[in-house]
Amino acid sequence: MKGKVFLVGAGPGDPELLTLKALRVLRAADVVLHDELVGPEILKLTPPTAILHNVGKRCGHKNVSQEEINSLMVNMAGAGLAVIRLKGGDPLIFGRAGEEIDALRRAQIDFEIVPGITAALGAAAAARIPLTDRRSACKIVLATGHRAFGKSFDPAVEQISSGSTLVLYMPGDDYSSVSTQLQHAGLSAETPCVLVSQATAEMQQVHRTTVAALRNHPPLPAPALLIVGAVAESAVASIPQPQNDASLVNCWAQP
Ligand code: SAH
Repeated sequence: MKGKVFLVGAGPGDPELLTLKALRVLRAADVVLHDELVGPEILKLTPPTAILHNVGKRCGHKNVSQEEINSLMVNMAGAGLAVIRLKGGDPLIFGRAGEEIDALRRAQIDFEIVPGITAALGAAAAARIPLTDRRSACKIVLATGHRAFGKSFDPAVEQISSGSTLVLYMPGDDYSSVSTQLQHAGLSAETPCVLVSQATAEMQQVHRTTVAALRNHPPLPAPALLIVGAVAESAVASIPQPQNDASLVNCWAQP
């Protein structure tokens, strides 16, 4: 049998936000190489015979390198297995998919991409705000805190204007530095922003603040992201996420 790799998005957390296609390929998995962000409820949807391997960053454990992940995918699919590379959110957004696709192409391994709901969309829904609004935001910038606030300033962040929404993935814990950098990028101190932690999961938190007040905001549990711009003005503060509809998840779990 010919092996294949599926780069699959698991969505932002709530298992009900998995696509039907993701569910179908998960159920047919021989091997699942998953990130830390993928929760147990989603992993439970894989067949009992599937080999599950956490290749994500784990506190206190040695990380599996990108080269090792590439080799695992290539070798296992080369041996005829259906390999699911399962990532939080969407596999093509800040997920190193480019490197994995390159490795699969080089090894001539068949692969397919199954999109997922990226964290920005889960977080916007959690905060009950649109990311675009014809009255105030005609552009969305997805940026990472890592790159954006590294030594060299990311031009994408410099281009943020009052007519855009910035979604900052991986903002880190140093909100004070993020606040300073956003003001250096030209945003006014009063620009509304919203921190969303564990969007769409049971422990989801939504905190509305401003670019200036972000400086004194206590760090929220990971994963968290920051939405900045006029659209954040109407964000609805944290409300507990209703429990997932267990009957639906259980029904999905049936083979
Ligand atoms: N591929 C993923 C992003 C991976 S980068 C996607 O499309 O969503 C990991 C970062 O995504 C985290 O540091 C955090 O900033 C953000 N993130 C992922 N899941 C999240 C969630 N449920 N709530 C808030 N932020 C989340």
